Formats: sequence, C-alpha cells, structure tokens
Amino acid sequence: MNNIFVNVKAAVTTLQAAEFYGFDVDRHGMMCCPFHDDKHPSMKVGDRYYCFGCQEHGDVIDFVAKLFGLSPYEAAKKLARDFGIDPGNTSVMAVHEGYHVWQQQKAEGHCAAVLINYELLLRRWFLRYAPATPKEPLQKRFILACMKLPTVSDCVDMLYSPDEKLRKSTFESLMRDGTIDKVEAFLYTHREEVEDAQSNALNGLAA
Ligand SMILES: [Zn+2]
Repeated sequence: MNNIFVNVKAAVTTLQAAEFYGFDVDRHGMMCCPFHDDKHPSMKVGDRYYCFGCQEHGDVIDFVAKLFGLSPYEAAKKLARDFGIDPGNTSVMAVHEGYHVWQQQKAEGHCAAVLINYELLLRRWFLRYAPATPKEPLQKRFILACMKLPTVSDCVDMLYSPDEKLRKSTFESLMRDGTIDKVEAFLYTHREEVEDAQSNALNGLAA
C-alpha cells in the first residue's frame, strides 16, 4: 500500500527538512532547538531528531508538525509539497535530485556572498589606503586590493552569469582549490571592517 507517511519519511531526513526550513545545522548535525529557548545548539538532527536540552525527539514528520503546529497528516502533506514528492508514489530518486539542485544553489549562493564581502573589503582598502601623493610608498593593503579586485569582481560576475555552465565551472573551481574557505577565513580575521563596509554599502543604497 502506498502511504504518504512512509513515502515522505523514505524521501526526506529531518536534517534535510531542517536545512530546507532555514535552520543552520553545523557539520556535526547540531542546531539550535526550535522547541525550547536554546542559545547553543543542543538538537541533533539526522534521519530523526533529538534535543539534549528538552528531550524533544521524533522523525521528520513529528519535527515539521511541531514546528508549524500541524497535524502529522498535514505535516506529511506539507513535506510532500515542499520537496516535490508524489504522495502516492515512492519517487525517492526524483526528490533527492531536487534536493541536490537546491543544495547546489544554496552552496553557489554562499560562495557568491563570500566573494561579494571580499570585494567590499578590497574596495574599501583600495580607497582608504591609496597613496595621497605619487611619492608616498604603497601600502600592503592597497597593493593587495589592486592585485585582487579585478579577479574577484570577475568571479562574482561569473557566479551570477545566466550561463549555467559558466556558473557551475566557476563555483567548482573555487570550491576545489579551497579558495572560498581561505577567503572566508581571511574575512573572519577582518570581520569588523567587513561589517562596517556592508553597512556602508547598505546606507549607500538607501541614500
Ligand atoms: Zn529542545
């Protein structure tokens, strides 16, 4: 017998649902529990979920039911709708494919966001550390900005290109050689300046 509960649970893990509905899950599968006032991640999500703080636990349908205040049947229908599952048919492969496409888009978005922040920081340095007179010695930050800015801007453009192949290959090469991880680490060490540059950019938009 085809059963929406069985099919949804076979197709979607609690971890996938949690990420899909916007929770940050770390690489250990931990996230902040939405069911109690949780400051530090105390919920473990995988196929099922368990909170070490409030002991809430269950499967993906319980999770979505509790999260959105739905009955288990409504939660199963919501999951089927959101993940494109045919409730009467175990088209698990199709779902996983859809999930991978979505995950890929999320990863590309993250990659672009990192580079945009990098671009903001470099532009700031380019303006701030430019020599006031031709005789002044060049500062390291200004040199770095001059060297990196054109490439970073090109990469951002390529990540937003309407050409899907170009987008994919740019993303893959940035991930493969660890560039994004390195840039992220670099931005983290300059996070105050990055935040300042971001709020300036936003103020610029509003003005
Ligand atoms: Zn909890």
